[in-house]
Amino acid sequence: MNILYHSTRNNDLKITASQAVLKGLADDGGLFVPDVLPRLDKSLEELSEMDYKSVAYEVMKLFLADYTEEELKGCIERAYDDKFDTEEIAPLTYAGGAYYLELFHGATIAFKDMALSILPHLMTTAAKKNALKEEIVILTATSGDTGKAALAGFADVPGTRIMVFYPKNGVSKVQELQMVTQKGANVKVVGIKGNFDDAQSGVKKMFSDEELKAELKDKGFVFSSANSINIGRLVPQIVYYVYAYTRLLKEDRIKSGDKINFCVPTGNFGNILAAYYAKNAGLPVNKLICASNTNKVLFDFFESGKYDKLHEMDGDGAFSKDRSFVLTTSPSMDILISSNLERLIYHIAGDDDARDRALMADLNSKGAYTISDDMKEALSSFCGDYATEEQTAEKIASLYSDCGYVIDTHTAVAGYVYDKYKKESNDDTVTVIASTASPYKFAKSVLCAIDKKYAGMDDLALIDELNSLSGVSVPKAIEDIRKAEILHDNVCEVSEMPAMVRGFLR
Ligand SMILES: *Cc1c(COP(=O)(O)O)cnc(C)c1O
Repeated sequence: MNILYHSTRNNDLKITASQAVLKGLADDGGLFVPDVLPRLDKSLEELSEMDYKSVAYEVMKLFLADYTEEELKGCIERAYDDKFDTEEIAPLTYAGGAYYLELFHGATIAFKDMALSILPHLMTTAAKKNALKEEIVILTATSGDTGKAALAGFADVPGTRIMVFYPKNGVSKVQELQMVTQKGANVKVVGIKGNFDDAQSGVKKMFSDEELKAELKDKGFVFSSANSINIGRLVPQIVYYVYAYTRLLKEDRIKSGDKINFCVPTGNFGNILAAYYAKNAGLPVNKLICASNTNKVLFDFFESGKYDKLHEMDGDGAFSKDRSFVLTTSPSMDILISSNLERLIYHIAGDDDARDRALMADLNSKGAYTISDDMKEALSSFCGDYATEEQTAEKIASLYSDCGYVIDTHTAVAGYVYDKYKKESNDDTVTVIASTASPYKFAKSVLCAIDKKYAGMDDLALIDELNSLSGVSVPKAIEDIRKAEILHDNVCEVSEMPAMVRGFLR
């Protein structure tokens, strides 16, 4: 089966997977989706005998249909190597009644490495396949983790340049240091005076700016994206859900055919959407539990069927108060416009581009849209909830005191939401929580949750404390920034983003 891709806003324009990877976002502002959602063609028993790279090939080949076996296997070999500090790549740890799928063993210690280790290879392979003449310019908006993972992946990759925009006051100390110390002749990092949504809309706007694109094409550049709007980010993320299931099977934690739940700390909706694609590929999944922090627009959406970035709602979808963007201790989830939700909306609308277009136009003009009852029914495998700052801290502290296991703030949001779900639903299905970052990345918030005495110290000063408390050795990513030189200090207004791009590509 040769799967093609088209925009969520136009079913007719079809392109290959490699072309979709190159483009990132469709010209009409829609996201690329496969014509049909593919299904696994190997049994889960067969997959449970394979290592991470082989499972990755079996999953990714279904979606990236025009890559040859040799091309895809080459990309996988180069991505999942000793940049990861464990051969398992994504190990499972049981603690406090759930399995934590640790997705932070890559170079920048957040789950973004799972996809961004391979995206540069998928992209340069795609450039070759499609005889692309221009240099690829990766424009990236980051809530903290994508930026560094993309920089690490694309630094000094021939034929590419990368520019990252992050909210100047909206990321953790470690996240910022990781980005502003990035080396490489083809990289640029810019702080913006705004939040992540501002950065993301600014980048999306440049993708649809025909004048800017034409001007840069003349100079020999084309834009692409390393955000999870790129299908080349999403597909590698499907792999670890399948892998997690097969590990549980191999270790006799579940029986063949048993359903499991996934609980995912969510921001831009990319990670949990990958779990949805895994379910549609035939993975036995019961519930997809979407966990939000105080920026709980997704929780309100799952409760009411109304997505409203401007107003908070009660359970009946009635107005309760104005919604404001809140900076939390889980900054990578501080998002009010979850881009990838558009892909889910499109699918639950019955792959109907006209309905998707109408809803997205509502979001643009009114800041909100409401889905129909049939679409709501199609959401039955999802449920959503959220954790406040106090609840997040509580979860870190209790899991540490009960099991000695230290989790980061994002993972703790999911841990709290799962505990609440289990209590309220009495659903005792085996559950895997996506553990999206190393606690070292958010050392201060994590330690303060465990003991208030750490409040006066900063992230870097607390690294050794976290080391002695958790018994987990300090990751190389942290050792690196302790001594690295600051190489980027650009800050700009949101309106100046195109000028920064022009300056970088002069
Ligand atoms: C990006 C990120 C998330 C949110 O993932 P989405 O795919 O944007 O929903 C959660 N936790 C961490 C640590 C992240 O970096």
